[in-house]
Amino acid sequence: MTSIHPSVDGGLKPAAKDFAGGTLSCRCKQNAVQMTIKGQCAHNHVCGCTKCWKPEGASFSQVAVVPRDNLKVSANEGKLKVVDAAAAIQRHACKECGVHMYGRIENKAHPLFGVDFIHTELSKESGWAPPEFAAFVSSIIESGANPANMGAVRSRLKELKLEPYDCLSPPLMDMLATHAAKAKGVLST
Ligand SMILES: [Zn+2]
Ligand SMILES: [Zn+2]
Repeated sequence: MTSIHPSVDGGLKPAAKDFAGGTLSCRCKQNAVQMTIKGQCAHNHVCGCTKCWKPEGASFSQVAVVPRDNLKVSANEGKLKVVDAAAAIQRHACKECGVHMYGRIENKAHPLFGVDFIHTELSKESGWAPPEFAAFVSSIIESGANPANMGAVRSRLKELKLEPYDCLSPPLMDMLATHAAKAKGVLST
């Protein structure tokens, strides 16, 4: 069977009602970086881009957002470093195990300023909102996926009810375009 990501390959688990959040840990056996998240995540999806962190062997990452005020690094923050300071999303990764703990946008003019990107699989709690769609599907080819297998990948995503898109989902693309149009003055606010 075509593997997408360990958290979705066995089917999606439903979100828990009134989910309170949880603790995310990096993969270090000792002195793990820990982060607490208050409340539920939003816009969870699987992503095929080459920038998001993926567990070993996965063809997609699983990534969601939370309001940045709901995220707090609670242990071993000193082990985090920014992967690429020039990127729009500053991905804070553990220097030892390489896991990306969170991605943050520091540019206040960016449409997604104010939310952080997280990987809910780093938490032992169950009840996180499951992925809703698949983004940047074609990009997995850039990580070495066989182009001839893309039909199977897209069918498997559809079977999992993760509609495959080659950018973000239409509501998110509309949100980004609306932000750009307002910035240009094409749309009034
Ligand atoms: Zn680590
Ligand atoms: Zn990505």
